[in-house]
Amino acid sequence: MNTPKSIPSGTCRDTPVLKERGQREVFCGLTGIIWLHRKMQDAFFLVIGSRTCAHLLQSAAGVMIFAEPRFGTAILEETDLAGMADAHEELDREVERLLSRRPDIKQLFLVGSCPSEVIKLDLARAAERLTQVHAPHVRVLNYSGSGIETTFTQGEDACLTSMVPVLPTTDQKELMLVGALPDVVEDQAVSLLSQMGIGPIRVLPAPRTAETPGVGPNTVFACLQPFLGDTAAALTRRGAHHIQAPFPFGEEGTTLWLRAIADEFGVDDDTFDRVTAAPRARARKAIANASEHLNGKSVFFMPDSQLEIPLARFLTRECGMEAIEIGQPFIHKGLVGPDLDLMPAGPTISEGQDVDKQLDRVRAAQPDLTVCGLGLANPLEAEGLTTKWAIELVFTPVHFYEQAGDLAGLFSRPVRRRAVLKLEAA
Ligand code: SF4
Repeated sequence: MNTPKSIPSGTCRDTPVLKERGQREVFCGLTGIIWLHRKMQDAFFLVIGSRTCAHLLQSAAGVMIFAEPRFGTAILEETDLAGMADAHEELDREVERLLSRRPDIKQLFLVGSCPSEVIKLDLARAAERLTQVHAPHVRVLNYSGSGIETTFTQGEDACLTSMVPVLPTTDQKELMLVGALPDVVEDQAVSLLSQMGIGPIRVLPAPRTAETPGVGPNTVFACLQPFLGDTAAALTRRGAHHIQAPFPFGEEGTTLWLRAIADEFGVDDDTFDRVTAAPRARARKAIANASEHLNGKSVFFMPDSQLEIPLARFLTRECGMEAIEIGQPFIHKGLVGPDLDLMPAGPTISEGQDVDKQLDRVRAAQPDLTVCGLGLANPLEAEGLTTKWAIELVFTPVHFYEQAGDLAGLFSRPVRRRAVLKLEAA
């Protein structure tokens, strides 16, 4: 007897999550330094790590374009790792040397790595000690970017979380935008909100330590990135109110994100429409042009950047794609719940990774597009699958209306290229 195939009902929020805790293939949290050091202009990221960590940072950062770089690695040598030297004393000397040479540094992050974690170097204690020595000129904070503890976008979350306890207290009603975006994209967001009369608007992380936002019971905040769960929790603990909304990817996501903030600040419909009508129309047109090759195609997300759920919402609702599996390293429903609500149940929602099992599912599904990390993309391409490197989605400006067409284009390019190759081979 044939049993009828059950048709899933509800939304992806109701879908039971497939939790996987096997081997994973993602960068570590040190990678976040690449975009954070550009954003925070008087900060310095001192990685306490090995030569491997230094190589990762140098190759991820490419050619240094700054006369004075804003990150470096204090290399743990074998003597440190074997406990034969006092790593704390060496660290103090390293910091002393750095700060006396670089009076422009106002905020110093000691960033933990796998080696510093393995030898249990207490960076929280080091940060406290060094703050006492170098305050008020320099504030020293610490967080972990280790590959044992973090996937690559979690580095930003850990960094911002470390800043929350030292944010000044304020009673002002302020909007805080949380997350590091390229300046041009951040300016677009601030401009749209300001045109609606919303303000004052503050940003975490601020470009300079002196502009660090305050936080208190009248602070409302909206996250710009879906990987900032710990930062959101820390801000909530300081009394701030989190505005939940779908993330500002695509026309729909951007509109819903802006609308949620506008509602919080009592913006009327006419004002909202007046400010958003033109950029919305531009975004819709750009997406329609760029998504021609995506319509009707299937997509499989492997867990990597933490952007997977909001991007799946964008691709399925605005570009006509069908999601087979949406994998994310961690799922914070408090952050991505509104995006899950917008997708009808159907795709597998997975959290974490067991890479071999997941690759089997990819091969069985034969998706038109697989979004995955660098290490998996080449082997899958060799098997005839079309892939998109997830890391590009983090390094490319993709938020808000003016980037919506580029975002669709990032996914449509590999699909189009594969179609051209097939035609040429025929
Ligand atoms: Fe490698 Fe760990 Fe250093 Fe990251 S922190 S580069 S995973 S050793």
